[in-house]
Formats: sequence, structure tokens, C-alpha cells
Amino acid sequence: MSENSSAATTRISTYLTIIVLIVLGLSVVALILSVNAFIVGNEVVAGYLLIIGFIAMGLSVYVLFQSRKRAASMKIEAPKVMSTVECKKCGFKSLREFQRGDYIFKELDACQKCEDKMMITAIYKEVKEKEKTFAF
Ligand SMILES: [Zn+2]
Repeated sequence: MSENSSAATTRISTYLTIIVLIVLGLSVVALILSVNAFIVGNEVVAGYLLIIGFIAMGLSVYVLFQSRKRAASMKIEAPKVMSTVECKKCGFKSLREFQRGDYIFKELDACQKCEDKMMITAIYKEVKEKEKTFAF
């Protein structure tokens, strides 16, 4: 489940990167045209193109940095939701990933040890260690 969401995040940031690169390319074109207009003698047009070029460039660089930061933080903040399954009779505990329809005090299959019914006693988000971000 978490693999799917991180893949989607990567896809979105790739899409955004392409848009940003196009804007960056257009801003370079605007700067080139501005120099061209200046050489021709059209200083007003050159000034406008220069401003547009710089704003577009600044904006695209800013968006690029912001999206990188957000993508990085999203990767860290994607904890798994876990359910604790417990047998009230013998105290046997097991842990599994949260499944749709899980709720606290929901009765599940029979206990592996005493065959009494097991129950969900806790649902919580798993806290990931920061080590994983440096896993290369
Ligand atoms: Zn039991």
C-alpha cells in the first residue's frame, strides 16, 4: 500500500519537474529575446522580457526546491497502520498490517493457542526510523 503511494508521489514530482523545466526553458528564451531586442534598440521590450525571464526563472527554481522538499518529507511521513490482535483468554498477541474494516474490539478468527476468539485491541501508526532515508 505504501509502495503505491510513494510511486504516485514520484510520478507527480516527475510531472512537476517537466513543467518546471519547460518554464525554465521559456525563461531562457525570454532572456535571449530580451538581449536580441536590446541589440535591435527596442529597450522597452527588452526590459519587459528581462523581467518576465527572471520572474519565470526564479519561480521555477523555487517550485522545484519546494517540491523536492515536500517529496522528501512525504517519504518520511508515510507510516504503516498496524493492528494488534490479542487473545483475551491466553494473552497471545500478534501484529498485522491494518486491513479495511478493522476496528478496535472487532472479533477475528480463533486463537492459534487456545482457539478462543481473538480481538483487535489496538490500531496505530508505525513510527519509522530515520535510518531508512539514508539507505544507500
Ligand atoms: Zn488464546
